[in-house]
Amino acid sequence: MSLENKVAIVTGAARGIGFAVAKRFVTDGAKVVIADVDDEAGQKAIAELSQLGEVTYIHCNVAERLDVRNMVAETLNAYGDIDVLVNNAGIVAGADFLDLEEEDLDRVLGVNLKGTFLCSQAVARHMVEKVQNGGEAGTIINMSSINSVLAIPNQIPYCVSKGGVAQLTKTTAVALAPHGIRVNAIGPGSIMTDMLASVNDDPAAKNRILSRTPMLRVGEASEIAGVAAFLASSDASYVTGQTIFADGGRMP
Ligand code: NAD
Repeated sequence: MSLENKVAIVTGAARGIGFAVAKRFVTDGAKVVIADVDDEAGQKAIAELSQLGEVTYIHCNVAERLDVRNMVAETLNAYGDIDVLVNNAGIVAGADFLDLEEEDLDRVLGVNLKGTFLCSQAVARHMVEKVQNGGEAGTIINMSSINSVLAIPNQIPYCVSKGGVAQLTKTTAVALAPHGIRVNAIGPGSIMTDMLASVNDDPAAKNRILSRTPMLRVGEASEIAGVAAFLASSDASYVTGQTIFADGGRMP
């Protein structure tokens, strides 16, 4: 198993894509920490995944520096190491540009962009120290989106945050490459999770998505988990600074 005995943190893994990534990593032999704000969903996730292997839930709002610091310290306390970080936690706030509230902009950038920065920096400090002490280099995977390169008029904070995640991926990849630490991103298209639930109830919105998706279907969370498993593995040992789009061929 490619992740045998590796320690992985997956943020926002109480449900959706993060849960699928956590499940794939546990199945592949990793010890997984689920960091999320939804404690109820987190406990449900633990109940399901602990049948497959070692998994822990830690309450952590990735937009809060102290939460992140405590989550990383707790992980190191429990497992003594962190090999993989998946910055998956993300939120949306839809509104037309002229109606957009400043608070919504702050909230979305806070979780999607600042949260990715805070977790990456906290974990990278451990990873760099480990390399300096002769240990194996770790890897960071950011959950970007096809909307990092597409422009959706009623999802401006989200698109901006994911564009920022794409640049954060490239810049941190370059900063950490001398230590052997790889940083990549995944750019999912439309994936069937709670985030997409509103689309399910809106046939026009669903048709709009499918008409721009040559594979003529939305993706499954497990199909994103497969890309994460590749990026986390040694098969991706010379891949850094990249965003891999998994979007069914999505067109603008
Ligand atoms: P989801 O809403 O199903 O799950 C998001 C998870 O993040 C939840 O468990 C939630 O509790 C957690 N979360 C929210 N705010 C948090 C915070 N501040 N700190 C910690 N955890 C927090 O969403 P999803 O569809 O699984 O999306 C996961 C990631 O994939 C997001 O970054 C999203 O932008 C990205 N993505 C999703 C799609 C899609 O179509 N579903 C497409 C492209 C990118």
